[in-house]
Amino acid sequence: MSDLNQNIETLKSHLARFQDRGIENLIDGSSCPAIDGQTFATTSPVDESHIAHVARSGAADIDAAARAARAAFPAWRDMPALERKKILNRIADLIVERAEEIALCECWDTGQALRFMSKAALRGAENFRFFADKATSARDGQQLQSPTLMNVTTRVPIGPVGIITPWNTPFMLSTWKIAPALAAGCTVVHKPAEFSPLTARILAEIAHEAGLPDGVWNLVNGMGEDAGKALTEHSDIKAIAFVGESSTGSRIMAQGAPTLKRVHFELGGKNPVIVFDDADLDRALDAAIFMIYSLNGERCTSSSRLLVQDSIADAFEAKLVERVNNIRVGHPLDPNTEMGPLIHKVHFDKVTSYFDTAREDGAVIAAGGTRHGDTGWFVRPTLFTQAQNDMRVAQEEIFGPVLTSIRFSDEQEALTLANATDYGLTAYLWTNDLSRAMRLTNSIEAGMIWVNSENVRHLPTPFGGVKASGIGRDGGDWSFEFYMEQKHIGFAIGQHKIPRLGA
Ligand code: NAD
Repeated sequence: MSDLNQNIETLKSHLARFQDRGIENLIDGSSCPAIDGQTFATTSPVDESHIAHVARSGAADIDAAARAARAAFPAWRDMPALERKKILNRIADLIVERAEEIALCECWDTGQALRFMSKAALRGAENFRFFADKATSARDGQQLQSPTLMNVTTRVPIGPVGIITPWNTPFMLSTWKIAPALAAGCTVVHKPAEFSPLTARILAEIAHEAGLPDGVWNLVNGMGEDAGKALTEHSDIKAIAFVGESSTGSRIMAQGAPTLKRVHFELGGKNPVIVFDDADLDRALDAAIFMIYSLNGERCTSSSRLLVQDSIADAFEAKLVERVNNIRVGHPLDPNTEMGPLIHKVHFDKVTSYFDTAREDGAVIAAGGTRHGDTGWFVRPTLFTQAQNDMRVAQEEIFGPVLTSIRFSDEQEALTLANATDYGLTAYLWTNDLSRAMRLTNSIEAGMIWVNSENVRHLPTPFGGVKASGIGRDGGDWSFEFYMEQKHIGFAIGQHKIPRLGA
């Protein structure tokens, strides 16, 4: 049996239980359908086949989950950090044990290629281990002596939090948001994306198997405008950690305003990869291709705008076309596949609409620009050349395997183009001129910049964007800044003078 057929058979064995029972919520430790019994269907982008019915929850389900999270909060907050650490490490162990199941389900639900997803489960486990280790120092603070007081600071968990995740790499992103919340001592209501609910359910099951007390982690499925909205409006939920589109972020901010929600937003991007003629062009080419065509281009940190110096642009684009046309599009469970289908027809329609937009605006489709095959939501990896930075294909987040190439003549123009966007998540800079790299990294408006490198995530570093790409940072201690409140306590050292009124 080929590897592909073997993977399909293994996947079927994992999916059987979801086909029988559907994907239910997990509230206060119990698996349950939506209170009013409604469901929606999740389908595979590979062939549009039905995967399972999913609980379509509303405000009443969110209310039950938020109450459970509130009830569970005091005991979870007060549990010794070493105990919390043990449970988080146990979750990581169980993720590793079920890594194959997670990877296969993620590929089938999202269309991501197995070559990338097989590592996503392990990265999810790493997120839990990283924050498990940090749990014991989450409450650490400072000692700030004054003449009269010994001032100390400590951090306390903010309370029950809502976590809303998108459909791209849903497993990894869920672990990335939930692990620090739990390590900080918060309880969680998680609303995963409606297009990819499968692995969020597996993850919540794992957490309970690992011994997480009931109510600490509640999973509620549903649509953004119903379950998601209700979560952002619930008065028991103290903060919302959201990953998704910029326009949704702004809606959530408005929805959360009446209850004064703290928000953390990881939003969209239109990230530049800037290639100067003095760079190592072979490595720059590899990195530019990897950062836009891996993960089907459905990646917030993708390098979707290529800014290339005009002296090398013809040769660089020619090599790009050759490589892009060689990318292996195919079944996501085939280990040789480099690009699978887009997540859903809705997204396929959006991405492919930009092929006409590019033509209308006067760009050239130098590679791709067509559907791949007749079934499923596959597209050819696509390259637009002769584009201007003010074209829609250079300004809007397409969120697919689509690269827009724009030429510049000098450093000043490269900087102007890089910053001429509403977004500011990442930038990638390719040059061997150290002073230029220093100048540009100082002036580029982005939360994260890599010089002579693709995006290589290091968990202790801050992750997040500026402008329309987000508010707040994840990673290391920055995650705790969001999930915890600072508390100051002043102890009198002696008998300092207290003003006496009415004496
Ligand atoms: P989306 O904004 O459509 O949906 C994200 C989540 O929000 C889903 O769970 C959805 O149900 C929910 N939602 C929708 N409307 C809501 C509302 N009114 N109230 C509460 N919740 C609501 O995003 P998507 O299409 O699922 O994901 C793709 C987007 O995510 C892209 O823009 C991408 O750049 C971004 N993203 C950003 C990062 C980052 O770290 N910056 C990481 C991954 C993805």
